[in-house]
Amino acid sequence: MKSIVASVGTGTPVIVLNGHLDVVPGLPEDFEPHTEDGKLFGRGSYDMLGAVASMMVLMAELAKTAPACNVVLTLVPDEESGGEAGTGHLVKRGFVGDIAICGEPTNLNIAIQAKGILQLIVKVPGVAAHGSRPWLGRNAIFQALESYRTIASLNVFEESTPFFDRPSLNLAKISAGKVFNQVPDSCVMGIDIRYLPGQNPDELLNRIRTSLPDAEIYVHLQGSPVDTPPDNVWVRKLRRYAKTDFFGQDGSADTRFYAEQGVPAVEFGPSGANHHGPDEYVEIRSLFEYKEILKKFISNIKDDEDEI
Ligand SMILES: [Zn+2]
Repeated sequence: MKSIVASVGTGTPVIVLNGHLDVVPGLPEDFEPHTEDGKLFGRGSYDMLGAVASMMVLMAELAKTAPACNVVLTLVPDEESGGEAGTGHLVKRGFVGDIAICGEPTNLNIAIQAKGILQLIVKVPGVAAHGSRPWLGRNAIFQALESYRTIASLNVFEESTPFFDRPSLNLAKISAGKVFNQVPDSCVMGIDIRYLPGQNPDELLNRIRTSLPDAEIYVHLQGSPVDTPPDNVWVRKLRRYAKTDFFGQDGSADTRFYAEQGVPAVEFGPSGANHHGPDEYVEIRSLFEYKEILKKFISNIKDDEDEI
């Protein structure tokens, strides 16, 4: 998979603008964009090709004026499927900076936190028996559901932070049973956990393993949370120009790859609605506002904060 990297200006700070070019699947009509009431409808308009368009226009404008810092635009694939081949790849190869701004749909608010990912495959055993005499066996499907409830009852799932009411726990997949006339002897669940910044995924996994001694548990995917300090100088400056509050995202984005390298990363993008669903749209006005906020932020990057 290919990414595009463009750069204007030199020196520090290095400001990374990050946009993903891939979109989730949609109906054929979702790929025929149209405008209505100041909104641009179409798959990817809000998540996040609108932001990408704003960033590209901004880069063209900055190229004429030479900013007093280095602005690096990275346009990547693969975000919707994990990001390893896009931003993950670029970050590993040193394409980082003093702040990374991912243009995810945030309605011009700034997300400084995101939950971490811990996706587990949990294999629960049962005892097979003839389907006409199920009392002689132990049904693995029931055992699995019981195991899921055990996980859900762990008190780590009741914890909260100022940004999040709770971690996320989703029984995403379940697979068991081969034929009608047999009690299933094995059930496999796919469990998607999004833990809070500050929670320890290794401890969480240990607690789950201890609470389910009979189950086999494998990690399917793990991703770091984002916990960008609100008092970081660049983050604070961006907030002043965006005139908004910070918030936390339940879902994960490419910000996590920067966070893993200790780079302050935020999600900040234009306004709209219905991303990943039907009737996705971005508000056209917000694309211009978005570009202007970024432009002011970059153009005044070396100004004293008191002057803002
Ligand atoms: Zn996105």
